[in-house]
Amino acid sequence: MNSTHDTIVTRFPPSPTGLLQAGNVRTAVFNYLFAKKHGGKFVLRIEDTDRERSKSEYEQNIIDTMKWLGFEYDEFYRQSEHAPRHSEVLSKLIEQGDAYVSQETPKEAGQRAEVIRFKNPNTAVTFTDVIRGDITIDTTDLGDFVIGRSLTEPLYHLGVTVDDFDEGITHVIRGEDHISNTPRQILILRALGAPIPTYAHLPLVFGTDKQKLSKRRGAKAITEYRDEGYLPEAMINYLALLGWHPEGKDEGEQEVFTVPELLEQFTLERIQKSSGVFDEAKLKWFNYEHLKRLSDEEFTDRITTFMAAHGQEVPEYMPQILTLLRERSQTLGEARDALIMGEFAFMVVTPNPGPDLLIQGAKADAATVKRHLEHIHRLLESVGPEFTDATVKAAIFDYATEVGRASVLWPLRVALSGREKSPDPFTLAGLIGKEHTLSRIVAAAELL
Ligand code: GLU
Repeated sequence: MNSTHDTIVTRFPPSPTGLLQAGNVRTAVFNYLFAKKHGGKFVLRIEDTDRERSKSEYEQNIIDTMKWLGFEYDEFYRQSEHAPRHSEVLSKLIEQGDAYVSQETPKEAGQRAEVIRFKNPNTAVTFTDVIRGDITIDTTDLGDFVIGRSLTEPLYHLGVTVDDFDEGITHVIRGEDHISNTPRQILILRALGAPIPTYAHLPLVFGTDKQKLSKRRGAKAITEYRDEGYLPEAMINYLALLGWHPEGKDEGEQEVFTVPELLEQFTLERIQKSSGVFDEAKLKWFNYEHLKRLSDEEFTDRITTFMAAHGQEVPEYMPQILTLLRERSQTLGEARDALIMGEFAFMVVTPNPGPDLLIQGAKADAATVKRHLEHIHRLLESVGPEFTDATVKAAIFDYATEVGRASVLWPLRVALSGREKSPDPFTLAGLIGKEHTLSRIVAAAELL
């Protein structure tokens, strides 16, 4: 601690007062990418000095979120554990005349008769923000601001600056709602003789309702997306593009990046000033794109791990329906649902549809449907050994078109799947093969 650093050190300092949502985590993404791109350090600091609002389950949620994203942190701190150091700094600032114990006249019940105030030199503070250029703020209006309720109760500005100093933070990358805090923090850093970090204030993240994302307004926790079967790489990709875009691309252009690709392309300078909108539909698009890029083996690993985390198992027939499953699932959760709801159970279980379902969507009576099923049976019997969705379709499509597609394809599909909703009958026939297709048609025709 407390040394000069050549390496870049960034920090992600959430308060454990709620579940981490997209706004907070986008800040983590930029801090992580920037540090790791430069071979630097990424510090996770839990800012838990608000004893009443801080909860251990929220700290756990922060840790779980970082773990899911694969954001390994090089150092971990809990701000409350720095209390002795904060008291020491408060005393030191008082001793050197940069702070003082101020006698207050309590205006309301519960207010303090004594607080610690920073002696504001009342100057204009200028700092260079990587995203916004030079920012000058006159601190005179701020007066002698409060930095501690008492020697043992430091407030945010004191805690954050002392910790940034001690942890050797070189770059403070955080939401633009902190711009107004920066001059006060710089004044404290100057008083401590600490180096001033480089600042980058990020544009805010809004919801599709044009409101700033916040846990109080019910923004979804990132871990909920994990539980719904989103991929961490899709989440990182999407969040990175909320306020940043790579060289040569237009703002808002959807571009699929792996984390190594982001590491290569990311620069603070390309973060824009205008805010971003977190749109779940777009996240889902990114998720599907990332799912598509997985090999069958990787996909199988992911869905297996995902289902195991929920106490579920993938069915044995999964390899046979993998292509279909992948085409139809935009998240691992959707794939899981299809598997556990038995959407593909037709692979192993002989369906037992019942006569009503067989004619339900056929727009024809039972006798007609029965005749069609018998005719298709004859047509399919003569299909050669190459029994695929294409050859099945070629064998029966003209007939279906001639007599009415619904009256042929609906009962065939139900005969093969036993379900009201399922993939189309050609796909089904190709998957289960000639023998099962023919026997299921016979069984269905007998029901009518
Ligand atoms: N704990 C503060 C927050 O979550 C950290 C602010 C900062 O980055 O300095 O807003």
